Amino acid sequence: MTLPPDVPYDIAVIGAGVVGCAVFRDFSLSGLRVVLLERGADILSGASKANSALLHTGFDAVPGSLESRLMQEGAARYRRIHQGMGLPLLPTGAVVVAWNAADEAALPGILERGHANGVHDVRPMGADELRAREPHLAPEARGGVWVPGESVIDAWSAPLGYALQGIAAGGRVLRRAGVRGGTRDEAGTWRLDTEVGPVAARLVVNCAGNQGDIVEAIARPSPFEIRPRKGQFVVLDKTAYRLATAIILPVPNERTKGVVISRTAFGNLLVGPTAEEQPDRERAATDTAALESLLAQGRRMIPAIAQETVTTAYAGLRPATQFKDYQIEALPKEGWISIGGIRSTGLTAALGIAAHARRLYEAHFATLPAFEEPEGPVMPNLTEELPRPWQEDHREEIICHCEMVTRREIAAAFDGPLPAGDLGGLKRRSRCMMGRCQGFYCFRRVMEIAAPHLPDLVSPLGGAR
Ligand SMILES: Cc1cc2nc3c(=O)[nH]c(=O)nc-3n(C[C@H](O)[C@H](O)[C@H](O)COP(=O)(O)OP(=O)(O)OC[C@H]3O[C@@H](n4cnc5c(N)ncnc54)[C@H](O)[C@@H]3O)c2cc1C
Repeated sequence: MTLPPDVPYDIAVIGAGVVGCAVFRDFSLSGLRVVLLERGADILSGASKANSALLHTGFDAVPGSLESRLMQEGAARYRRIHQGMGLPLLPTGAVVVAWNAADEAALPGILERGHANGVHDVRPMGADELRAREPHLAPEARGGVWVPGESVIDAWSAPLGYALQGIAAGGRVLRRAGVRGGTRDEAGTWRLDTEVGPVAARLVVNCAGNQGDIVEAIARPSPFEIRPRKGQFVVLDKTAYRLATAIILPVPNERTKGVVISRTAFGNLLVGPTAEEQPDRERAATDTAALESLLAQGRRMIPAIAQETVTTAYAGLRPATQFKDYQIEALPKEGWISIGGIRSTGLTAALGIAAHARRLYEAHFATLPAFEEPEGPVMPNLTEELPRPWQEDHREEIICHCEMVTRREIAAAFDGPLPAGDLGGLKRRSRCMMGRCQGFYCFRRVMEIAAPHLPDLVSPLGGAR
């Protein structure tokens, strides 16, 4: 529902990452008039476009932290709704592998922390059981801790589905709508200055990720400072998928969970991420030295990785702060809810964070009716786990042969209430150009379908950029 600029929405959510999409969903389903403001050309323009796509159990979180609670609540909600939305859940499990005596000494503490977090099914795994389960691991693997609940999901279809559910409930998504500032009038209405004009709202929810402290300054001096932490990844070809069934985790340290080897929902094997502080909030560049180091670490854990081909590399920026825990707070006097510092677990926690935001709203602003989880929409399946359109009889022609994406799937990315807003959005909705050739063969044919919908892509000379 679009409201004129002088009629306030009940809530304006700033930032359409996975957290903003989940918050938008829940408040819209609660019957409020909600607008989701995103500065990018599409949703998921920030941290949420590039992560490891793991649905965590929270076994290694700080017990009693907000992050621990909301990860568990978020994962539980995802598990309840994913089937109805056609969203994947690969129940891979994970094993924290000990590679040396120091790692072995850390295992009892990892078990204890898992239990303290209420994850009671974590258990020790001996070297023989580990070898039987993961025969490609290097012989130095001494056993570890088995975490059966860790899983792999599709990090893009889930938040898109949340946003579509919010729209179906009456919410509105505005893209290219960066918020530049705002003032609050005497009646308590926010007048946000956005790139698409003024937007009025009674309450603002700041979900701006790596811009979180800058957006927070609209309401007050930000109590948290964003310190972006880059994570680089190497994506191995689909032939490498067989080399690990479970997620292979190292023994973590205080700063990072360390380099992980994991299957992806799309049939690849992932090695990463790094953890690198950087001042730049926008650009997440990959560099050869870091990628080579990741590959070397991957080969030490699974030597057969040496024979595998790299499909691509990417990097994401975690919205970290000076604090370890999430920075979530309601400011009743300011008509504002801050959701900051959702560092490295936001995909898992998003629906838990949204439920928490609802609770804060009820505690400080007004009561809300309970809502039924909606049925659908059913998201297009992009994974290898379920049948894909190219496998159907009488399918349309395949345009992207690496990822087996049909013409219909590419065209469908531009249908509906939240069509792809840029090339990245098209890739995240269809997987076209994300395979081995990275668009080398299919780019022109993809552009024939996409260019009419993406005017930014067409250069003044008439060619696709
Ligand atoms: C390397 C890496 C690996 C990770 N692995 C996992 C994992 O396996 N599992 C897991 O659960 N989590 C993981 N995460 C964490 C997860 O990706 C983040 O916690 C999550 O993406 C944060 O989401 P967000 O919505 O808070 O931020 P973002 O996704 O950054 O969203 C913020 C949005 O706000 C927009 N915005 C900013 N300023 C403005 C403005 N002024 N006006 C309007 N819009 C604005 C941005 O464009 C952006 O789209 C990982 C993260 C990284 C980087």
